[in-house]
Amino acid sequence: MRPAEAYAELVRLSREQTVLASCSDLLEWDEETFMPRGGVEHRAEQVALLAGILHDRGADPRFGDLLDRVEGSDLVADPDSPSAVNIRELRREYERERKLPKDLVEESARVATLASQAWADAREAADFRILTPWLDRIFRLARVEADAVGFVGSRYDAMLEDYEPGMTTPEVTALFAALKPELIRLVGELSTPASVPAHVLRREFPIDRQRLFAESVAAGLGFDLERGRIDTAAHPFCTSIGPGDVRIAVRYHRRNLAMGFFVLLHEVGHGLYDQGIDPVHFGTPMGEAPSLGLHESQSRLWENFVGRSFGFWRHFFPRLKNIFHESLHDISLETFVAVINRVSPGTNRGGADEVSYNLHIIIRSELEQAMLTGDLPVADLPGAWNDAYHRYLGVTPKNDADGCLQDGHWSEGMIGYFPTYTLGNLYAAQLFAKAEADIGPLDARFGAGDFSGLLEWLRERVHRQGCRWPARDLVARATGTVPTPGPLLRSLETRYRVGPI
Ligand code: ZN
Repeated sequence: MRPAEAYAELVRLSREQTVLASCSDLLEWDEETFMPRGGVEHRAEQVALLAGILHDRGADPRFGDLLDRVEGSDLVADPDSPSAVNIRELRREYERERKLPKDLVEESARVATLASQAWADAREAADFRILTPWLDRIFRLARVEADAVGFVGSRYDAMLEDYEPGMTTPEVTALFAALKPELIRLVGELSTPASVPAHVLRREFPIDRQRLFAESVAAGLGFDLERGRIDTAAHPFCTSIGPGDVRIAVRYHRRNLAMGFFVLLHEVGHGLYDQGIDPVHFGTPMGEAPSLGLHESQSRLWENFVGRSFGFWRHFFPRLKNIFHESLHDISLETFVAVINRVSPGTNRGGADEVSYNLHIIIRSELEQAMLTGDLPVADLPGAWNDAYHRYLGVTPKNDADGCLQDGHWSEGMIGYFPTYTLGNLYAAQLFAKAEADIGPLDARFGAGDFSGLLEWLRERVHRQGCRWPARDLVARATGTVPTPGPLLRSLETRYRVGPI
């Protein structure tokens, strides 16, 4: 078989894998949105079966044979070409898949579905002990997985590799160590005075009207509702089922306008990335993001750098005020923008302000590393959690639901996922600063309702590049520097110290 034929066969197999995986994604979307509670056992079987089939196909030695035929051929001569990128990434995925025993993959999928249910029960009862045995099992499985796929430094490297390929534990540790003291200082210095009337966003905001406003903003930013949809779910997310089918799920709160709206903006940022990917490359690595951190950079960028700006609200506030006249008639644009940029450290990651947010992530990253090594027994998590919150943010959760049970990531088996949130913030700050340097002042554009200049800049440098480079290198190419904490710290300092303009 000639290299060109082998490559065509590789692409065909890769597309089939993607289509099959999208069936699993659709089942997960349904699980989060409409599935009745009684469906959980059967859903666990469906998801585990598909995970097993996907694994068998992904680890098929035929992949290895085909890769052997194309590696070293003209197809990889230019390392940035789509064929070279696809071959490089398919090899990486194949090697990882090949090393994972099938029974481990199926067991992990089944345990994750059941542990998620245990997490929901534990959270409802605000009692971590309901989850302890499950979480213990999850961390044991993670260790087995790390040992199976292998790692250079520590088991945590193997976990990171799944979400942020190319990023190592020492790199993440160094970035976070540089951020931590600066963030603790900033949270202390920038906390908003009580005179900013945060309570105005806790008035009455009917959910059907929030939804209408949210969908019109999503469309205004460039989210194509013909190729995507927005539903509600207990835990917000965005998933791409295929080209032309990008699904967002959000949660509105009748008496908390900001919480639902910024979650929507966040998920729209993810959705814009997925809709910006070149459909020609669907089903191959060139049609995927290189990492979760880079995906998160897009959601954070639209949520914070765009959605908390003065210009954004100069454009959208009059419409918002019209829709919620009873609740906002006495609020000026300036007051509204001050309220949504309030800095107030709390116990909850979901509703955290932009300045304290990364401390929530650093806490989770440190704790999951300690649980993975075994230094922190899972049963001791609640105490360690509360202690970290006290030290970094000066707050104490009122119970487990408000503390270590607030996120479902670990129960879903996602260890090594949390750092991608803060990496996303670092990438976002750097990309936004460079976009502004290239395009000119963005606030003025936002004020005029022009978001397409920024979106086009991101499409060209981020979305359409697919997996061409690891996230770190893509950011370096787009901005001229490898990711560092500087741009994020400077941006927070500027925007929050002088007040949001
Ligand atoms: Zn996100």
